[in-house]
Amino acid sequence: MNREEYALALLRSCYGYDSFREQQWDIIDHTLNGGDSIVLMPTGGGKSLCYQIPGLMSDDGFAIVISPLLALMNDQIDALQQNGVPALALNSEKTDSENRQTVELLMQGKVKLLYISPEKLLSEIDRWSSAITGHIRLFAVDEAHCISQWGHDFRPEYTQLGSLKQRFPDIPVMALTATADRITRDDIARQLNIPEARLFISSFDRPNISLNVVQGSTGRIKFRQIVQFINLHRGESGIIYCLRRKDTEKMAADLTRLGIKAEPFHAGMSVSEKQRIQRDFINDDLKVVCATIAFGMGIDKSNVRYVIHSNMPRNIESYYQEIGRAGRDGLPAEALMFYNYGDMVTLQHFAQQSGQVQINMDKLRRMQQYAESSVCRRRILLNYFNERCDHDCKNCDVCDNPPERFDGTMLAQMALSAIKRTGEQASMYAVTDILRGWRKADVIEKGYDRLKTFGVGRDYTVAEWNAYLLQMLQLGLFDVAYDENNHLKITEYGNEVLYGRQLIQLNRYERRDIKKRPVQQQEPVIEVSLHTQSPAKLMDKELFERLRDVRKALATASHIAPYMVFSDKSLTAMATEKPTTRAEFGILYGVGEAKCQKYWRPFTTAISDYLASHAKAGR
Ligand code: ADP
Ligand code: ZN
Repeated sequence: MNREEYALALLRSCYGYDSFREQQWDIIDHTLNGGDSIVLMPTGGGKSLCYQIPGLMSDDGFAIVISPLLALMNDQIDALQQNGVPALALNSEKTDSENRQTVELLMQGKVKLLYISPEKLLSEIDRWSSAITGHIRLFAVDEAHCISQWGHDFRPEYTQLGSLKQRFPDIPVMALTATADRITRDDIARQLNIPEARLFISSFDRPNISLNVVQGSTGRIKFRQIVQFINLHRGESGIIYCLRRKDTEKMAADLTRLGIKAEPFHAGMSVSEKQRIQRDFINDDLKVVCATIAFGMGIDKSNVRYVIHSNMPRNIESYYQEIGRAGRDGLPAEALMFYNYGDMVTLQHFAQQSGQVQINMDKLRRMQQYAESSVCRRRILLNYFNERCDHDCKNCDVCDNPPERFDGTMLAQMALSAIKRTGEQASMYAVTDILRGWRKADVIEKGYDRLKTFGVGRDYTVAEWNAYLLQMLQLGLFDVAYDENNHLKITEYGNEVLYGRQLIQLNRYERRDIKKRPVQQQEPVIEVSLHTQSPAKLMDKELFERLRDVRKALATASHIAPYMVFSDKSLTAMATEKPTTRAEFGILYGVGEAKCQKYWRPFTTAISDYLASHAKAGR
């Protein structure tokens, strides 16, 4: 067996996977040859295998994995132990005697992967004898962007890691991150002292995540759309991101009132409360979390099926990182973002208050362009991350409904004339009220109901006006005076349109009902085992639900998260292939030897029972 065959055999027996993903083998091979590397892969891309396999392949050595988050460390170790891989952690949460025992096992060559925090490693390694250091085969630096002040998560402890290469020049270093920009990457190479490191950049595309933006919805309409959406995803896990703490609380309370159990999560809560919510979410006891950006760091849950942004995020980096928490198992997942004019006002305010006004305003503008785009959204994202993409993705709302354009001159003239008649003293909201002819108290108080334009736009809904006014703003017909109560001011270009000297085109607004996206699923989208080259079979939804219950019961019994028993993808394979024997079960996606042994009985029994009860019903 050559080296690659051996690696593939381990991949099958430990993880239950049949092939490496793009680049994984090249990275492993390069490491086994002693090379340093910088690995850029998106969240869910499969970074962990790149350092785990070299550790597993060594007869008497082990790989050190440096990781900043204890929770994530514990998660990975639990998952590895499920697969029968000897992995341990050294950190401050363990007792001294536990840590001593770990060191003992290392010396005996009984551990393949050692997870450790940077500060612990640096304080510990000086004390290790060559009986231990002689067995180190790799330093893997996970979340390597933490070393850079340019990255979004700088951790000073990381900056000391450069000494490793100086002290152990022959041990390969692998730095891994999901942050792709060049400055961060150069910083990593410099600070870790690995100038010759080979760079492996994977595609940042996450084709299984469908991208959707709903423009213009506010208040109750938006809430109703969110409820509709969740109802289409009953029983699935999802995250709803909100801008402010109080929004997370309100959203969770409103959803719970409608029978959708949800909890808020934000930085103002106690540590123990936050831990409880994360745990419930991971264990599938809580399906919906309404969170500020603080949620999601340090959880590896693979079966998050959707991420909703109830407001536009402040930049594309955050957006991409947040939607990346969906669909890590590779199954279809949805990202749904709401965007309205009010979000822009709030976010602009945040940006103005921030330390780096110019940068943050520019980033916000790019985010806004994404939200308003009439070209394929995935193309914009990939282009933003400097990845060439020259085709439409067919998995975003723009690809589904390429916008229709129409002559919007008349509409613009209505709006512009309303603005003009207020003496340019009205905000976007007031202009909408005037156009719609709404006799609100402050409209009447200002005398707007006596304007000639009052109610001329009645034929269009609030959502339509929201969307069209936004487009007009983007097209530069008027400006928002942020320093003057957000009053609208007509530009020169706007005047030309108002007086008929210029025509403008608008994208037709379409009311989007929240519908179930037709999953492109003539064939099941699963990598069912290579051994079963049968024609495409369909997943049995009812059986899937049953297997989910089996998984939950097994997880509860052994105090681990359900996705560590099996991923949704493995359950999908079971509900498609319907194995009833150990041999059939053992070749499925994600079923390695340890899990096969532990779990084949409960799952195949459930499948047999299910098939029997259906056969009876069919008779
Ligand atoms: P990352 O650390 O890059 O966010 P992970 O290493 O957690 O990603 O991998 C994401 C998911 O993909 C995990 O469930 C992992 O088991 C799975 N995975 C990784 N490599 C493969 C592979 N070669 N074949 C099938 N599944 C894989
Ligand atoms: Zn697209």
